Amino acid sequence: MAEFTMELNEDQVGVRDWIHGFAAEVMRPAAAEWDEREETPWPVIREAAKIGLYSLDFYAQQFLDPTGLGIPVTLEELFWGDAGLGLAIAGTGLAAIGVFTNGTDEQIGTWVPQMYGDANDVKLAAFCSSEPDAGSDVAAMRTRAVFDEAKDEWVLTGTKTWATNGGIADVHVVVAVVDPALGSRGHASFIVPPNTPGLSQGQKFKKHGIRASHTAEVVLDGVRVPGHCLLGGKEKLDERLARARERAAKGGDRGRNAAMATFEASRPAVGAQAVGIARAAYEVALDYARTRVQFGRPIIDNQGVAFQLADMRTRIDAARLLVWRASWMAATGKPFTSAEGSMSKLFAGETAKTVTAQAMQILGGNGYTREYPVERMHRDAAIYTIFEGTSEIQRLVIARAVSGVPIR
Ligand SMILES: Cc1cc2nc3c(=O)[nH]c(=O)nc-3n(C[C@H](O)[C@H](O)[C@H](O)COP(=O)(O)OP(=O)(O)OC[C@H]3O[C@@H](n4cnc5c(N)ncnc54)[C@H](O)[C@@H]3O)c2cc1C
Repeated sequence: MAEFTMELNEDQVGVRDWIHGFAAEVMRPAAAEWDEREETPWPVIREAAKIGLYSLDFYAQQFLDPTGLGIPVTLEELFWGDAGLGLAIAGTGLAAIGVFTNGTDEQIGTWVPQMYGDANDVKLAAFCSSEPDAGSDVAAMRTRAVFDEAKDEWVLTGTKTWATNGGIADVHVVVAVVDPALGSRGHASFIVPPNTPGLSQGQKFKKHGIRASHTAEVVLDGVRVPGHCLLGGKEKLDERLARARERAAKGGDRGRNAAMATFEASRPAVGAQAVGIARAAYEVALDYARTRVQFGRPIIDNQGVAFQLADMRTRIDAARLLVWRASWMAATGKPFTSAEGSMSKLFAGETAKTVTAQAMQILGGNGYTREYPVERMHRDAAIYTIFEGTSEIQRLVIARAVSGVPIR
């Protein structure tokens, strides 16, 4: 039994400091430019690949940290550097988690390396679940996957939206309906290998924040993938569908599905990203408040300003603790009986939005300009109450978990 400690171990401190160096020296100086350009920051991703930060090896190592803190420590530091660039580097991770949570060992070994490529030939991956009419309401998904038994191929047809790296990724993980009668229990995840005919990028979105991260529609027009691209395999799917049909016949619950398993696993990691943005904005505000003089004294001498900073710091630390708790629970096999993963994402996302707004206020007029980074951080933070389940949906998940009532 591991001893309880709030201290990071030597390895974790080493990783944190190494990423902090990359965030400070490579990401921060490039952040404003890529935010303005609104393009995928290939040079920064390649730089991360060159030092091993954008690599399967590195993420697998962090993912396997027995304390669970490898991933949150990594992501907090990366997103402290910049959220748009951070997501351009970390976006592949969501698709990789999709394969880790639903795939067989063989599928993990085949596809995850192809999602990252190597330092000389960097690859990306995308996780495609959301659709124009199925955002929070995952059960409304329409993209169909039909099995062509004669050819042992699945045929995918539909339109996905809001996909991070959608259309520019080498490997796409697509969630689709295999049995419409079963609602979200009738979903399955598929790998769409590189250069598969029929998959194309639709609209690329122009966004409020995280503008260096590519977000687009993905159109699937009769995309044929081999049978082995069904994550988990056909046998497991058939068993799962049979159980779901039995439960449905008895009027049982709708249960978990492939996309939900991915989101549950990724929520604390998304919370860690939000903590990184909030900490970055707080640090800028603290420095500014110490040096900006009005009425003959630094503005931090006013309780009105200092108390805001005290609240900001307290919220950030509380958010980090929730993220670390959920990450530790996941790594040590403790189920999220009270939706602790959702709690961490909800609180950290709301914290990032609030703290970056407070930071902008503390910087006054300067905070509102692009001369200072806090307005970008505030724009970036806004997505953290929306994607990977909105704050309202996190509250729904938590409320259901703690009450046992199927609250709508
Ligand atoms: C930049 C960006 C990147 C993204 N990346 C990905 C990705 O890589 N892969 C992917 O699959 N998806 C991705 N998404 C999609 C994201 O997860 C969805 O936008 C999100 O789940 C919300 O869905 P929606 O936009 O359709 O909003 P809607 O579901 O239409 O919600 C609209 C509003 O209604 C509220 N609402 C809805 N239902 C309820 C309810 N039952 N109770 C209370 N309030 C409710 C919501 O909280 C929200 O405030 C991304 C989105 C963005 C903007």
